[in-house]
Amino acid sequence: MRSTLSTSTTGASSARSTPTPRNSALLILPAPLKTQLFVLARTAHPRECCGLLEGVREGEAVRVTALYPSPNLSPTPETAFEIDPALHFALQRNLRGTGRSVVGCYHSHPTGKAEPSPRDRANGCEAGWIWVILATGVIIEGAPSLGAFLAPGFELQAIATT
Ligand SMILES: [Zn+2]
Repeated sequence: MRSTLSTSTTGASSARSTPTPRNSALLILPAPLKTQLFVLARTAHPRECCGLLEGVREGEAVRVTALYPSPNLSPTPETAFEIDPALHFALQRNLRGTGRSVVGCYHSHPTGKAEPSPRDRANGCEAGWIWVILATGVIIEGAPSLGAFLAPGFELQAIATT
């Protein structure tokens, strides 16, 4: 049996009692990678950091195995992000046949919450694509927060750090 999940950082109060089917996907983000994500986000501040997540699918869970930071190609990197498509293509090519794949992306919100912004929601992406969003700009004596979302719909997913 999988160990207990860490608490969701945002949006946990939404839809607790709704009967709609829950997507049971689980993101497994090992602690060293989580730490690395926050370092990347802090380094990029006040701009958004962004990059790709490499991972493996383990049943209904996705285990992140590596991070691939991308330059933020957005012309307004303080409020948006754009991952270098060349990085994405190269990574897809390099992972072919390895059992690992590009499972999603991450980016930070220097002044926002660890949840999809309206702009994020407007950006369409393929089903099953995982978004990890870090909130780093409004930290007072506390840990920055991290949220993981599964496209489409950005339903909040639990995150385990194993
Ligand atoms: Zn965003």
